[in-house]
Amino acid sequence: MEQLKLNNGQTIPQLGLGVFKVQDAGDLKSAVAEALKVGYRHFDTATIYHNEEWLGEALAESDVPREELFITSKVWNNNTTYDETITAFHESLKKLQTDYLDLYLIHWPSEGYNEKWRAMESLYNDGLIKSIGVSNFEKPHMEKLMTTAKIKPAVDQVETHPYFQHKELNEYLKSMDIAHEAWGPLGQGKSNVLEDPVLVKIAEAHDKSVAQVILRWHLQRDIIVIPKSVHAERIAQNINVFDFSLTDEEMSMIASIDKNQRGSGDPNDEEFLKGTMSRR
Ligand code: NAD
Repeated sequence: MEQLKLNNGQTIPQLGLGVFKVQDAGDLKSAVAEALKVGYRHFDTATIYHNEEWLGEALAESDVPREELFITSKVWNNNTTYDETITAFHESLKKLQTDYLDLYLIHWPSEGYNEKWRAMESLYNDGLIKSIGVSNFEKPHMEKLMTTAKIKPAVDQVETHPYFQHKELNEYLKSMDIAHEAWGPLGQGKSNVLEDPVLVKIAEAHDKSVAQVILRWHLQRDIIVIPKSVHAERIAQNINVFDFSLTDEEMSMIASIDKNQRGSGDPNDEEFLKGTMSRR
């Protein structure tokens, strides 16, 4: 497994398992067991996924030592203050049955993110989180955060796939030495990206699936990926992407199919952000 070095010297496995929308304890536990078996060590959850507890149980049941695991969670938008963020973090730790997180993210740039960041800096300084970062932050959010931040985010986790490539943000994050992490790396099964003819042709040339080509494309852009699946065959397939590489020409062909097409919420839409704050 390739490791990326973050701006604070910590490393992150460049590929992990996402568990958004896994709403069944049995599915989650079998997916995590399967993932560990085929080499995954990085797991991405969030308080709002309501499955931290199951992930904690699944990891506790495995014989993989904690120091080999990389666990990410995210503070949800209903927490707006310093104290609420500290409390939410400790609840996540307890559910995940661990005494530290590898990465903790502000889930969206909703109200109060400068204060939330102050709390995360304090947890980081206390050694309870190895790296702190943000999610769904675009350049204006990052600039506002940096007016009060003492520590620069290590990671920005944002929607990214071949139909929403986030090229400008990718350049900006590179210039800031902040790692770009893709959520929805396969388009979340919402668009028909997995049937795109350009990707199908490249997949055939490498005798790989379209999903594998997409994941390989992310990796070659130095992007961290956390594809979600609960199916053993796909979990195995999605990590089997370190034995081939795309040519520069193939990378350019994929660059040309961008549609700037978001599949989910827009962090620049204040009404959308406000609407998320009442969710629990
Ligand atoms: P994804 O792009 O990983 O798509 C998952 C879907 O793709 C699966 O449900 C399945 O239908 C399909 N799939 C997976 N592997 C496949 C394969 N090999 N072949 C064919 N189809 C396959 O979407 P996602 O789950 O939304 O994103 C990944 C992870 O990112 C999440 O699980 C979560 O951890 C994180 N995430 C974060 C945010 C955020 O706001 N920070 C938002 C959404 C997701």
